Amino acid sequence: MSLSPEHPSITGPSDPEVDPRASYALEPDMVEALTDRIIATSGRTVPSYTPITGQPVANIPQSTQADVAEAYDRARRAQAAWARTSLDHRQSVLLRLHDLVLDRQEEIIDLVCWETGKARKHAYDEVLHVALTARYYGRTAHRHLDPERRPGVVPGLTRIDVNHVPKGVVGIIAPWNYPFTLAVCDGLPALLAGNAVVTKPDAQTMLTGLLGAQLLEEAGFPRELWNVVAGPGRELGTPMIERSDYVCFTGSTATGKIIAAQCAEQLIGCSLELGGKNPVLVLRDADVDRAAEGAVRASFSNSGQLCVSTERLFVADQVYDRFVERFVARTEAMRLRNGLGWDNDMGTLISQDQLDTVTAHVEDAVDKGARVLAGGRARPDLGRFYYEPTILEGVTPDMTCFGEETFGPVISVYRFHDEADAVSRANEGEYGLNASIYSRDTARARQLASQIKCGTVNVNEAFAATFASIDSPMGGMRQSGMGRRQGAEGVHRYTESQSVATQRLLRFAPVLGMSDEMYAKVMTANLRLMKKLGRA
Ligand code: NAD
Repeated sequence: MSLSPEHPSITGPSDPEVDPRASYALEPDMVEALTDRIIATSGRTVPSYTPITGQPVANIPQSTQADVAEAYDRARRAQAAWARTSLDHRQSVLLRLHDLVLDRQEEIIDLVCWETGKARKHAYDEVLHVALTARYYGRTAHRHLDPERRPGVVPGLTRIDVNHVPKGVVGIIAPWNYPFTLAVCDGLPALLAGNAVVTKPDAQTMLTGLLGAQLLEEAGFPRELWNVVAGPGRELGTPMIERSDYVCFTGSTATGKIIAAQCAEQLIGCSLELGGKNPVLVLRDADVDRAAEGAVRASFSNSGQLCVSTERLFVADQVYDRFVERFVARTEAMRLRNGLGWDNDMGTLISQDQLDTVTAHVEDAVDKGARVLAGGRARPDLGRFYYEPTILEGVTPDMTCFGEETFGPVISVYRFHDEADAVSRANEGEYGLNASIYSRDTARARQLASQIKCGTVNVNEAFAATFASIDSPMGGMRQSGMGRRQGAEGVHRYTESQSVATQRLLRFAPVLGMSDEMYAKVMTANLRLMKKLGRA
């Protein structure tokens, strides 16, 4: 493993001789321009810190419950006007956002890195995903949202039009791990469909969420269409849900269940993108080098703090030794730095909480007999929350990391003898988010994929192939979630289907003095005829 011994040579933006705020990691004026967007009147602020150097980043104004109500009032006013704009206008704004995000990528990436501590290349993935999503919905708006003609009950006489009516105001509650893409991407189809948004980014990554809001406005979305509140989820979550017409949540399964129960109480829909314990299967005919390269990205992207990242690796007996040797070698060759440069293969964990969980999972496994094939220790010399990419072997069901999500750079490798056994082990546990299968026989791999209980399955790729294919729905089965983002599903969740029937000539009642009994006979004969004619 090539390790950078020195601390990052990153300093605050100002001269400490003349500016008492010089220890701040970011320019205070730039931070203030962002935090001004928060609807917050409490007068209270909460500081946030960068995991890279520990420097303070911002004092985040905190919203009250009255501020949440104000955010929804603003959103509702803006939504009424927005819903009257043409689809062509909305899609042109999305396409402008695409260009803006690509043009401003350095600024976005820097901020994501400062707030999360992730490696630059992993922050770039967020730019990519927002641009892909903006382009996709910008180009497919009419396909998804134009009124649809459907067959009516009486051919030629009953016309049916299905309208996709916006729900109204969507509440978006986002986590810290992919703070740009998870704050923005779920909102784009909501806006496209004519909704407004009130969003609460995670406390640790507020500025990135706010930069998203700023870019949306610069692209041409009205400012009050996208309203940001700040504060603890358990305080602001309920008032948000009480005022939302739909809730989009990304985060842990435990919080997702609380949100689903509150949405049920309000009789509103929600989509929940939750946790995972994602498996990779390396079959006996896999290209071992390709699988080892993919396994590194699958396991250690954003230090494993990625919902679709892998924590369980099942490898066929025939290729086990060759695969493990290459996987360990590639892991040990990773460049570990704590800074903003491109020369970094994995950044730091975001917080002490994350470090504590990762440390506890590895210590528990090792105490109970697991072997460490790579990594296995914290790296305080690189950063306060740094943990090495870690490969474990010999993990057993009594160890915490066997079934619980670590959400860190820790992967357990298991050997399998037959594929049916590998599939059933991959399906063990409560989650069902993402899986990968490595095999040269892609038709066979696709067939196996249909037996895996996960919302997305990637053949010969870690996770990016499904995640970045925006036309394909993405989300979890079982305890990994409810509903789907992306594709038609990703925009239709924010609409109500409204059927409009226009009836000509015939009416659905006896005519010309016909008795009810005769009417029933005529209708029965008609039903039989329609079935004979092959009508649906
Ligand atoms: P979390 O559930 O603790 O927090 C997520 C968000 O919910 C934060 O904004 C938080 O403030 C808010 N929140 C917390 N309690 C709340 C409540 N009672 N009501 C309303 N909002 C509340 O999750 P986290 O620790 O920030 O994120 C990590 C988890 O998210 C992991 O389990 C990971 O797998 C999952 N995740 C899933 C996806 C996906 O797409 N499936 C993506 C990223 C992260």
